[in-house]
Amino acid sequence: MTSRRRVPDEVMVLADGSIQPDLFGATDAELARRAHAERVREQFEGRARTLPGGAAVVWVAPYDTIGARTGERRPGWRCWLCGGVEANEYVLGLRHGLHAGDPEVLTRTRCRLQDRMQDRDTDGAMGGPR
Ligand SMILES: [Zn+2]
Repeated sequence: MTSRRRVPDEVMVLADGSIQPDLFGATDAELARRAHAERVREQFEGRARTLPGGAAVVWVAPYDTIGARTGERRPGWRCWLCGGVEANEYVLGLRHGLHAGDPEVLTRTRCRLQDRMQDRDTDGAMGGPR
C-alpha cells in the first residue's frame, strides 16, 4: 500500500516497521472517529467564533470580571442557537450546553438556556403547567 495514513498511538508497529493488521477494524474505526471529531471541532469553532456575515464575535465585559474591565471588548464565543455571546468556550459549554467534544453538538436545535426558558414558561412559578 503506497498511501500514507496517520497511525493512531494504539496501533502496534513491529520492529521491521510494519503495522499489525487491523483484523477487527478497530484502527479504521478509531481513525474515522478522530476525523469526525476534528471536523466537528472545526465547524464548532467556525460557528462559535464568527458571525453569520463572517465578522469575528466580540464579547463585551458587562462588569469587571475574568481580568477584563467593564466595557472591555475581547474575542468571544457565540451560541449559534440563541445568539448569546460568552467570554470563553468553557462558559459557552456551561451555560448553553455546547461542547466541541460532543460529536452531536452540530445537530442540536436548542441550547440549554432555551430549554430553561421554556421550562420556566411552561411550569409557571405557582400553578404548575398551564
Ligand atoms: Zn444558547
